[in-house]
Amino acid sequence: RPIISAKDAVFESGCRDPLIEAKNPRMNAAFVVLARNSEIDGVVSSMRSLERHFNQWFNYPWIFLNNERFSQEFKKKVAQVSSGPVRFGTVPAARWNFEEQQTNPVLFKEAIESQGDREIMYGNTASYHNMCRFYSGYFFKHPLVRKLDWYWRVEPDVDFYCDLTYDPFLEMQMRGKKYGFTVAIKELVNTVPNLFRYTNAFIKKHDVPLSDAWDFFVDRFDVYKGQNSEHYKSTTNRRDFWKKLEERVPMYHALQTAGEDAARLDQHSLNRLVDHSNKRGLHMVNKDQFDGTEYNMCHFWSNFEIARTDLFTSELYQQYFDYLESSQGFFIERWGDAPVHSLGAGMFLNLSEIHYFRDIGYKHSTLGHCPKNSPRQLPYKPGPRYKNVYHENDERNLAKYDRPVSDGGVGVGCRCKC
Ligand code: GDP
Ligand code: MN
Repeated sequence: RPIISAKDAVFESGCRDPLIEAKNPRMNAAFVVLARNSEIDGVVSSMRSLERHFNQWFNYPWIFLNNERFSQEFKKKVAQVSSGPVRFGTVPAARWNFEEQQTNPVLFKEAIESQGDREIMYGNTASYHNMCRFYSGYFFKHPLVRKLDWYWRVEPDVDFYCDLTYDPFLEMQMRGKKYGFTVAIKELVNTVPNLFRYTNAFIKKHDVPLSDAWDFFVDRFDVYKGQNSEHYKSTTNRRDFWKKLEERVPMYHALQTAGEDAARLDQHSLNRLVDHSNKRGLHMVNKDQFDGTEYNMCHFWSNFEIARTDLFTSELYQQYFDYLESSQGFFIERWGDAPVHSLGAGMFLNLSEIHYFRDIGYKHSTLGHCPKNSPRQLPYKPGPRYKNVYHENDERNLAKYDRPVSDGGVGVGCRCKC
């Protein structure tokens, strides 16, 4: 299933003249970096990379946010690297710590310790929970960010590999895009066991009209319907059924269904479900209906984002965030901002408003996206080998939503060196 529609062509396959592009007016946009003072070297490294490949021509401002005050050293060093204005913001404790928001500190501590015991990635790190919740619901409300139309999220220690010779904010605006990504990847199931359920409940509660983008995030799952059917009577199919349940569907759904329709499941099967659920440490929350869809765990890797702020400052997104917040899933589980933003985009945007920046070479930690240089720039003549190369690979790569999407062979980049 393609991540994005064929309509979502790359904005430019190859290089433009950045000096000419830079003559266009600037958008109301900035880079936004949440970072600690101790991360200054990584911040400077990311900035150098992005300045060299893009901002040296466009001089967009850099905005730095921190839950503590930035040191003079931090401020001085980033100012030296930036070709645009720099701004510094502090995140008030009320927007950062759970304890400041009527969260029971004992419950909080127990919840995250239990995530540590279950080896949930970053589960036992309070600051990581703070960070994810901040990026999910608060950062676009920060006074420095709120007044922007667009932001580009940057993290310490990321690399950019290609020249970006046009203004992505301007180009997105012209093409009606609202959210741009470079990498899509699967989430760790145990960090978000109930996120989709709350999301679905929110959709029902607010009658959210779902767009074509939503389909990208859901698996239609109807094995339950099949369990009493002829199909289910075959041993192989029955084994498949359990395998699917155990591997792909968080157990609470199965349990709920089992509870509602216990007559259809034998005791042994029921025990297996309970067992499995307990082993995975999934907690049970109040019931809402399983409607035959499940989150496929795909999300845009949000350490890179170029997006409109009004996607997230919209009333509906805020209601969504508040709903998630009230479920306490930002600490009872370890919901990342990436799946939250992605499900938000999936709910509130049309597919045509989401853009895959396949021409931006990018790496964060061990994963990234590496475009090949556009054939136009290669020292050989485009021949039959290169004809349609973009299209073929396009379809092939887009179908791989279950792994980091990387274009290996697609020639869309400008002076890329990955
Ligand atoms: P990962 O990319 O998922 O491994 O998470 P990171 O540790 O890189 O954190 C994501 C972003 O949030 C980075 O920009 C970090 O600098 C920032 N960040 C994470 N925790 C904190 C924190 O406690 N304080 C501040 N100021 N920034 C943080
Ligand atoms: Mn990171």
